[in-house]
Amino acid sequence: MKKLIRVGHGFDAHRLVEGQVLVLGGVEIPYHQGLQGHSDADVLIHAICDALLGASGLGDIGKLFPDTDDRNRNRNSREFLTEVHRLLQSHAIGVVNVDATLVAQAPKLAPFVDSMRSNVSADLQLDQSFVNVKATTTEGLGFTGRGEGIAAHVVVLVEQSIG
Ligand code: MG
Repeated sequence: MKKLIRVGHGFDAHRLVEGQVLVLGGVEIPYHQGLQGHSDADVLIHAICDALLGASGLGDIGKLFPDTDDRNRNRNSREFLTEVHRLLQSHAIGVVNVDATLVAQAPKLAPFVDSMRSNVSADLQLDQSFVNVKATTTEGLGFTGRGEGIAAHVVVLVEQSIG
């Protein structure tokens, strides 16, 4: 059986607002603001979903889980990730590895990175050593630097079994 390696890229950003819980990689992070969005606005999980769908040629998260659908309101984004994983499996596509970068001026995310990796690797049924999450600031530059929002960049490799 032939195996094709495919690469995917995902990007997402959400606005920080008062009165929301901050959830990144399925981890609740103590902070005075959270991300605004239709679901729980987990920017990391959204970018991972988009990278996986991109690598697989299966569209994007907005197409799969539209914000016009009330079922997706306040939804736990890890459910999106498990559904995306199932969709990939149905196309004989396995995840090789995930590498993510969170961009946030505050709060400090490093203490939570291993819990995020653990959640993502559980949802993708992948060893944790194949899921990497990094966090960076932008030294005060841009919308993330001003604390207006948090962004996530993700690349993934997947392998597709053919024939
Ligand atoms: Mg999003």
